[in-house]
Amino acid sequence: MAMLLLLHFVLAAAAAAARAPAAQAWGVEGHYMVCKIAESYLSREASAAVKGLLPESAGGELAKTCSWPDTERRQNPWSTPLHFADTPGDCNFCYARDCQGTKGEKDMCVVGAINNYTAALKDSSSPYNRTESLMFLAHFVGDVHQPMHCGRTADLGGNTVLVHWYTSKTNLHKVWDDKVIGTAMNRLYRDDLTTMISAITRNLTVSYYFWTAPSVRLHCWPSPKRRVQSGVTTAKYSGELRARIRTS
Ligand SMILES: [Zn+2]
Repeated sequence: MAMLLLLHFVLAAAAAAARAPAAQAWGVEGHYMVCKIAESYLSREASAAVKGLLPESAGGELAKTCSWPDTERRQNPWSTPLHFADTPGDCNFCYARDCQGTKGEKDMCVVGAINNYTAALKDSSSPYNRTESLMFLAHFVGDVHQPMHCGRTADLGGNTVLVHWYTSKTNLHKVWDDKVIGTAMNRLYRDDLTTMISAITRNLTVSYYFWTAPSVRLHCWPSPKRRVQSGVTTAKYSGELRARIRTS
């Protein structure tokens, strides 16, 4: 279905663009930004189809629903593996090996989730709730662009890699989820998310490959130190934020 393909592409491009000026940010603000930018690129037909599926509480705004799967995950932990696609550390994602649950259930990773919720949206006879499928898909396309969501099982996607971010102690996953965007929003956009979104959207002229390449390399470095340094390199590509990060 053309509308779905367009939505998919727009969400992926928005996720890539959202990290362009300020690296990564996949907390509430990061997911909101990805979806907000994606919404502005939807065709009239796609926008109407998306609005038709949104819950009333969203007020017609897809971005307002994009963190819902993180809330859902706390209430229904079964969905937690759907947010990630970690590998044992060999830098090769193997679907059969890396996309299964602890009891061997199939499709239990973010790649499987994107496939399945896309299929559910394309099939009008699907038994799955189409509203939830849309909200899951919009969230997971954002997640899959956060390098630590496609990281290493050994360090739980950077959660056990302790680092300093400016003056605070944190972990590498948290840096990519929240810290970079928080710092950028504060220092470059006066804590105004709308201004930050506008600035990113104005600069949305980069090629998809350019911003994908550094993040793909990021989690493949064997040592935490190299992965942290790779993150700094990625931040420097933005030209707007010089990340102050060092291993703990
Ligand atoms: Zn998530």
